Amino acid sequence: MTRLLLLGGTAEGRALAASLHPHVDIISSLAGRVPDPALPVGPVRIGGFGGVDGLRRWLVAEHIDAVVDATHPFAATITAHAAQVCGELNKPYLMLARPPWDPGDAIVVASDTQAAEAVEQQRFQRIFLTTGRSGVKAFAGSAAWFLIRVVTAPDDTVLPRRHQVVLSRGPYGYDDELALLREHDIDAVVTKNSGGDMTRAKLDAAAALGIPVVMVARPPLPAGVATVGTVAEAAAWVARLN
Ligand code: NAP
Repeated sequence: MTRLLLLGGTAEGRALAASLHPHVDIISSLAGRVPDPALPVGPVRIGGFGGVDGLRRWLVAEHIDAVVDATHPFAATITAHAAQVCGELNKPYLMLARPPWDPGDAIVVASDTQAAEAVEQQRFQRIFLTTGRSGVKAFAGSAAWFLIRVVTAPDDTVLPRRHQVVLSRGPYGYDDELALLREHDIDAVVTKNSGGDMTRAKLDAAAALGIPVVMVARPPLPAGVATVGTVAEAAAWVARLN
């Protein structure tokens, strides 16, 4: 039977684990960033592998035959490592990446730093910042006010001077997002192009209120990587391995 590593940390990773376990021999992997992660069904390992060399050693030691990478579209380092090591070891590798959002009228930028520059250039004053814990530090020098929504609290040293932190985890609904934008008198939303339905309501709410959006584009995928957009397609790819 094929033994599969499922790189997760996303709703898609959990859904794929649920659709494969127990009839496929899978082990899910989480980075261990959040203290209370939502766990996939089936066997799970937690923590980094120790770079490219650590991942290569681990795949060989665990007799892994194939890897499905269902990590977040912005988790570019682990994806680069997995694509490289699978190429070297000649193991089948699939990227499961949910389709990106259509940016529409959003100001599209390539990085958190560029998003912070756009906020300054446009003179936005009250920003709903949803780029995640690691994205906050790019805004540390801004004089604007930020409503910062994150799963785990950022380090105090990277926070902008004027802010409020909201700790929460999606999914988020349209009515709640509309109320949040109104309550805090938000004049711009800053987001990554994460894609998917769990967090897209903020875009619909911003559009309804005519609030501009600054959207950080996804990092490019490694060249030549097989990619699917849905859990069902990933499950079909796994079925073809046997
Ligand atoms: P990253 O920058 O691509 O990876 C940094 C390091 O974390 C990797 O080199 C690896 O350490 C370790 N790592 C990442 N994902 C791992 C996994 N699934 N299993 C084992 N080790 C992993 O990753 P990130 O952006 O910090 O994301 C970390 C995790 O959070 C991922 O599982 C991702 O799916 C999830 N997540 C990320 C975001 C986001 O916006 N980036 C949003 C939601 C969920 P070693 O080099 O030591 O192997």
